[in-house]
Amino acid sequence: MTEPERYEAVPCPPWCEQLQCQEPRAEDRFHQLARTVPVTLRRRYPTGTGVDARPGSAELNVVVFASATRPDETWGSIDVGEWSSTIAVTVESMRRVHAALGEVLSVAEA
Ligand SMILES: [Zn+2]
Repeated sequence: MTEPERYEAVPCPPWCEQLQCQEPRAEDRFHQLARTVPVTLRRRYPTGTGVDARPGSAELNVVVFASATRPDETWGSIDVGEWSSTIAVTVESMRRVHAALGEVLSVAEA
C-alpha cells in the first residue's frame, strides 16, 4: 500500500496576487500574476458578405502560474477571453514567444 502524496505549501512569492492559492484542495492552489491586455482584433470579411460578425476588440489575459505545492512547477498562459483559445506553456517557452514577438515586430516595422 502506498502513502498518499503529501503537499507542503509553498509560500506566496512577492508577485502573487493571492487569487487562487487559498483553495481548499492543495492540488488546486496556484500562485498567479495576471495582466489583461485590451487588443484590437484583425477584421475579417467572409467572402461575399462584406460583414465582419466578430467584435472589434477583446481582452487578452496573460498569466504566470506557480504551483503552491510543487516549487518546480511554473508555467504561463495566454487566453483570449470569450474566444476561449488558450495557450499554456512552460516559462522557458514563454520567453521564446516573447523574444520572437519582439524580433518579428522589429523586423517588420524597420
Ligand atoms: Zn500565492
